[in-house]
Amino acid sequence: MKSITESPLALKRRARKMNRILAETYPYAVAELDFENPFELLVATVLSAQTTDVRVNSITPALFARYPDAEAMSQAERPELEELIRPTGFFRAKAESLLGLSTALVDQHDGQVPGKLAELVKLPGVGRKTANVVLGNAFGIPGITVDTHFIRLANRFGWSSETDPVKLEHAVGALFEKRDWTMLSHHVVFHGRRVCHARTPACGACPLAKLCPSYGIGEEIPAKARKLLKYELAPGREDLLEKMRAGATRRELRSQGYGLGA
Ligand code: SF4
Repeated sequence: MKSITESPLALKRRARKMNRILAETYPYAVAELDFENPFELLVATVLSAQTTDVRVNSITPALFARYPDAEAMSQAERPELEELIRPTGFFRAKAESLLGLSTALVDQHDGQVPGKLAELVKLPGVGRKTANVVLGNAFGIPGITVDTHFIRLANRFGWSSETDPVKLEHAVGALFEKRDWTMLSHHVVFHGRRVCHARTPACGACPLAKLCPSYGIGEEIPAKARKLLKYELAPGREDLLEKMRAGATRRELRSQGYGLGA
């Protein structure tokens, strides 16, 4: 990464410009987990540890048909619950978390998901990242979701050299208006999945190239870089990109036969 000397104000301006470009690139960015209410998002986020959102989305319809709320899930037979969530991996530990958290919701919160960080993180299996996902996407309370994509990209962007999730959350949070935090998280994670990959970032096809101090750590030749793009940006998926830009939901796209990879 090129070393850049910039004032705190210049960093803030550059970071906000980068977020604006990402917002234009991914106007359809959303939480990639499917959910209908806070309980479903909480459960889906717990299940998403160590697996992909796609895999979680593939099992949650059956899971929520069987256990539609905390009350029902708290009374689940463990073997049946484990079987339903098995494809997401670590299913024994995750079943333990789901039974624990749904019981805690019933006992302490009338079966409802609380809309406060301090209360969410007390629930079994719920860390700060999960709590911020739920607050930002189910309650409209701004939160920055720091996952591995977010850490990698914020470091590459030169926004902060912190790698500790909580310290990074605060450092990046200080660069942006609070109201922008939730969408910022989606933009950065979308970019990490599609363009700025862990191994070979597609620098030569990256809309942030001019503002990114790490430009050049990946493929610089545009034609080669374009081949590294994923999901709706991948060459040959122009129709999918067009539909996403036109506002089609992920469920609609799946029902039309699009295999959404992220
Ligand atoms: S220029 Fe390269 S390192 Fe920087 S954001 Fe784009 S893909 Fe990532």
